[in-house]
Amino acid sequence: MWPRVKVELHGIVADCPSCHGTDFEPQGAAADSIASQTPMICTACGARAPYIQLLIQIGDKAITRSLETLERIRAQRAKVKPPPRE
Ligand SMILES: [Zn+2]
Repeated sequence: MWPRVKVELHGIVADCPSCHGTDFEPQGAAADSIASQTPMICTACGARAPYIQLLIQIGDKAITRSLETLERIRAQRAKVKPPPRE
């Protein structure tokens, strides 16, 4: 029985591309010896994705998140700015 692991970086959790589950079983690797090409099997639906693909997904989410943060900061700045006099 392989351990169930979550693929998480910087508080962002990768999810299964088919069912959005977040628990994976690394195939043929212990939790501490997962390599980029280790197939990660979703414990909910059995879909398989290489570990690297899950890391890339986290990277994409991190980019989306930082863009959203940037938008929020911009929106807040726009609010505190005095209205333009024209
Ligand atoms: Zn799944």
